[in-house]
Amino acid sequence: MSAQDLRRQGLSYRLTQENRAAARGLVERNRDFACLTLLLTYRCPAVCDHCIFESSPKATATLDPGTAERVIAAISRQSPPPGLSFSGGEPFLQLDTMKRLAAFALERGMPSEAVTSAAWVADAGRTRATLAELGERGLRTLCVSYDRFHAPYVKAEKIRTAVTQALELGIRVVVNTMADPDDVRERREMLAEALALPLAVVDSCFVNVLPTSPVGRARTHVDRYYYPDHPPTGGCQFAGRIVAVSPYGFVYPCCGSVLGAPPERAGLMIQDDLTGRSVDEIAAILEDLKNDLFFNLLSVLGPYGILQELRKREPALQTRPYTNQCDACLEFTDNPLARGAAEKLLVEMSEALAATEAA
Ligand code: SF4
Ligand code: SF4
Repeated sequence: MSAQDLRRQGLSYRLTQENRAAARGLVERNRDFACLTLLLTYRCPAVCDHCIFESSPKATATLDPGTAERVIAAISRQSPPPGLSFSGGEPFLQLDTMKRLAAFALERGMPSEAVTSAAWVADAGRTRATLAELGERGLRTLCVSYDRFHAPYVKAEKIRTAVTQALELGIRVVVNTMADPDDVRERREMLAEALALPLAVVDSCFVNVLPTSPVGRARTHVDRYYYPDHPPTGGCQFAGRIVAVSPYGFVYPCCGSVLGAPPERAGLMIQDDLTGRSVDEIAAILEDLKNDLFFNLLSVLGPYGILQELRKREPALQTRPYTNQCDACLEFTDNPLARGAAEKLLVEMSEALAATEAA
């Protein structure tokens, strides 16, 4: 029986009021949400080899704007409300929706960021006008990407225009760049050279160097990964702190690699389908997410820590080298043995917690 089957039956792994005292170590943490990520669409002009969503111009899945608005309304009840991130695919393909949602969120105290390929960027004037309109609606950060995967699809000139116009408007810029086993240049210097930007401009951005995980299109299109010397131990700082909503309306507890797994395999991760739900229903689902035992375990033990516990119970369960924590988490979507062992552990823990409280 899958986690979703159990959830549908109401036999969830959630920490209830009754067993909460028994799990004090898990629940007595700051469990406010830090960020809501809305994946507005899986469509994208680019077809990057490493894309976890296998986005392309042919992808059609698009988030229902009404659902997105209700999620914002529900999560903004938190005090203070979390930030809002627009991502995809390419969220600028849904520019009117993004403007509307950004304004709606700003009215509720939620500033926003947008994660983009910059493929939509035209000349400096039009780019500035678009960013200025979003800035008036609360856009505070623009995240662009540049590396060997994006380079074939997005001209450096477009990224340069987006970066310079955003900075001139006072919008913070983050440059995401995937680590490259074949290019050992220092990443800031590589970006300055490739984007023809002064190093001082790159230094005024936040440069985020990311590992590639074998998920989505990377499974078939990427054959070289960085593997650190040590396994990715420690709790996941994102589990249960970031809420992501996919274009299908599915809600996830983070915006990590598991979002790229086929939904039918991601039962341990997908908390619910928000499509057609009311604001009150969504608020209740989000509150439940905070009490989900699996996400709490991910937060405290991390995926690698959970896998080590599972291996004690299931010796046939093998681990492998992982590029990062999210790669280890993919065991819970891709490896039936790990999924099954995790579901069994969660049921047992849930029952044990309830029994402890009842005694
Ligand atoms: S730009 Fe981003 S969303 Fe688009 S294909 Fe590349 S990685 Fe995927
Ligand atoms: S480690 Fe798992 S829970 Fe944490 S961000 Fe990555 S995929 Fe999400």
